[in-house]
Amino acid sequence: MRIRILGGGVAGLAGAVALRHHGFDDVRVLERDTPAELHARPGHGMILMRNGVAALRALGAGGCLVGHRALTRAVFQDERGAVQRIDPLDGIYCVTRGALVGALRAELPDGAVEHGRLCANVLLESAGGPHPPDEDRRVRSIGFADGSSLDAADADLFVGADGVRSTFAAALNPDLARPHSRVFEIVMSARDPELAAHLGATFLTTLLAQRCLAFGLLSPSPGRVVGFLQFDVQRHGVPPCAAGPGIADVAVDLLGDVPWQVARFLRLADRSTAHLWRPADAEPAARPCVANAVLIGDAAHPLLPFSRQGVGAALDDALVLAEALARGRGEPLAGTLARYCEERRRDVAPFVAGGRRIQASLVGQAPGFASPYVHAAAAHGPEPAVAPAEDPLFADAAADLATGAAAPTNIAGRCSAPR
Ligand SMILES: Cc1cc2nc3c(=O)[nH]c(=O)nc-3n(C[C@H](O)[C@H](O)[C@H](O)COP(=O)(O)OP(=O)(O)OC[C@H]3O[C@@H](n4cnc5c(N)ncnc54)[C@H](O)[C@@H]3O)c2cc1C
Repeated sequence: MRIRILGGGVAGLAGAVALRHHGFDDVRVLERDTPAELHARPGHGMILMRNGVAALRALGAGGCLVGHRALTRAVFQDERGAVQRIDPLDGIYCVTRGALVGALRAELPDGAVEHGRLCANVLLESAGGPHPPDEDRRVRSIGFADGSSLDAADADLFVGADGVRSTFAAALNPDLARPHSRVFEIVMSARDPELAAHLGATFLTTLLAQRCLAFGLLSPSPGRVVGFLQFDVQRHGVPPCAAGPGIADVAVDLLGDVPWQVARFLRLADRSTAHLWRPADAEPAARPCVANAVLIGDAAHPLLPFSRQGVGAALDDALVLAEALARGRGEPLAGTLARYCEERRRDVAPFVAGGRRIQASLVGQAPGFASPYVHAAAAHGPEPAVAPAEDPLFADAAADLATGAAAPTNIAGRCSAPR
């Protein structure tokens, strides 16, 4: 089977790797960016939940986790630095997009990825009628910005893995709408070995509940710290810029007085690489496949940042699609794709709903607290109970919260900030 994948991000590369594992050798990935452009944007760091870690390992690319820190707890403090809650975490990592993409790319042979291939349009044909069923619709051709094109005869299957603003998804779903979510995220990172050591394996979130702000801090690898501010744009407005020192200033102004860890991070962060993420808040694509094409990753189902499942879901898409195609050898492709889409729609639904639940809690639309990540418990078993790790930063607070001796505990008063 000849398979052409549009988009060489996490989903597209993982798809190519998984397909090759199942013996589909004629797979090519067509990516718009050049290697230099990709190299210039390694990303600050993203959280990979347990299902994502398992999927990465199944793809043979788990080696990129070496040197990254496994997170063992999430600590939530208020704006005065008083600990409100501690969740155990297990098998969750923070990795850069560059490391993930590099590891997946390394699993593919030379020539499997073509760079500089910006897909400009996808044309469909259908057997007739105003609303033909998906199995009667087919991709007829794909045009690229460089003037080249692919016709239906050039491949048996096209995979749209071109991200949240997918040209492919828009072609399959002419009324596709992907509005921005009401919470945006400003992401930064700093080289700060002392704060990194201080955080250790802790994912620290500072909740400024009255102002609908949350600031996450974690250390993906020794010496580095990643920080991100989540803020409600309906309340705080849309920033006038999206990158660089200007957006870092927006974060500093919004936050005002903060616990010392956040203040120190903001002081030391590399402002030139600060970045604004405007996520989409949308349902999965209503029509994720036609007879000879299918969407995977963000192209199929954008997820809110709160779920921390964008990468995990993209990797799982790749594995499940490859398995479905291997199982369905000799059967009509349209039926195999339809079954795959149905399965993934079910699997991803809790991430969509979970992301929205967490967002509602942050912006004050829903009562109570919601941890800012969604476990894929159904597929990977319940989260194991984890004994609190030996972490001098929060050990006292953990013990106090566990026994109810002192809650909330002011960790800022218990440990001194590194100078
Ligand atoms: C700042 C930030 C932080 C994030 N943090 C997390 C996190 O902590 N945890 C998590 O799980 N997820 C996180 N995500 C989401 C995660 O990055 C995505 O869900 C995941 O990368 C989806 O993979 P994908 O391959 O579908 O899309 P992408 O990774 O976006 O890849 C799409 C690829 O398609 C290419 N492309 C796009 N258009 C075209 C075209 N027309 N023609 C050819 N190629 C094209 C792009 O260049 C890109 O390489 C974060 C995202 C951002 C922006």
